[in-house]
Amino acid sequence: MDVLVELSSYPELDDRIVIVRAGDEVDAVFVRTERFNVLIDTLGTPELCRMALNLLEEKAADRPLIVINSHMDWDHFWGNAAVAGRAAIIAHAAALDRLRAPSAQQLLRDKTSQESRFRNVELIGPDITFSGSMVLNGGDLTLELIHTPGHTPDHIAIWIPELRICLAVDAVEYPIPEVWSKSAEDLGLIRSSLQRIRDLDARLVIPAHGQTSSPSTVKANLAYFEALADRIDRLNESQLTDGQLSRSSGFRLEDFVAIPDGMPADTATFYRNCHETNLGATVQAHIEKRKSA
Ligand SMILES: [Zn+2]
Repeated sequence: MDVLVELSSYPELDDRIVIVRAGDEVDAVFVRTERFNVLIDTLGTPELCRMALNLLEEKAADRPLIVINSHMDWDHFWGNAAVAGRAAIIAHAAALDRLRAPSAQQLLRDKTSQESRFRNVELIGPDITFSGSMVLNGGDLTLELIHTPGHTPDHIAIWIPELRICLAVDAVEYPIPEVWSKSAEDLGLIRSSLQRIRDLDARLVIPAHGQTSSPSTVKANLAYFEALADRIDRLNESQLTDGQLSRSSGFRLEDFVAIPDGMPADTATFYRNCHETNLGATVQAHIEKRKSA
């Protein structure tokens, strides 16, 4: 698969912010402040990240670069080798646990065996980690890094109060986000992270997938989880343990959100799998709620 990088924007987006788009795979974001530049995510390979840095050279050359890894999902940080040693990389402390897990190396081996474009990827961790929140004071712009777990344990979103812009990365996703596991706890986390982002009352909410900047996506994501819970609440005991639930009428992805026309088949499959995990977590939450009632 050949992925190309291009710079992009959204209507009404301040020109200090640039969308760094790697095809349909993922968007990184570049923010230029008075004191330094910030690159949020390094794309899926060092080559893609280098392509991005070349395109940004004119905007970036005159001040230091800080890199943020929003979370340790491959499409967001496998380009780290392109910036390691020339920019400090910041991530949430929970990123280190994910990086040290044997599954991190296994995924790299698996993906490299499928696609040669991953052959130069090195798993490079952050230089600086934090718990809770962190603030980057750029002078004209402030970047507040907010821990927003639920999609993954280490996920952070970025809030820029001067512009009322939230870089939500994967905490918000169109058509739907995906919860970390089929557990009630992770479901609670993803829903409260979405509520936290909604309560920012942002003018623009920019996720890393789906190529949208509308704050309505946050509300749609919350409504989706709400609808899942409502429908699961009406099931009886035997329906709850039906392993095929995400394929039964009334419980399929398309019964909750419209699948965009022209979405490639493999992308639709990806979101059906996300939906199945979300549904599983909702069932688990329901069972636990019944037990404690
Ligand atoms: Zn992602």
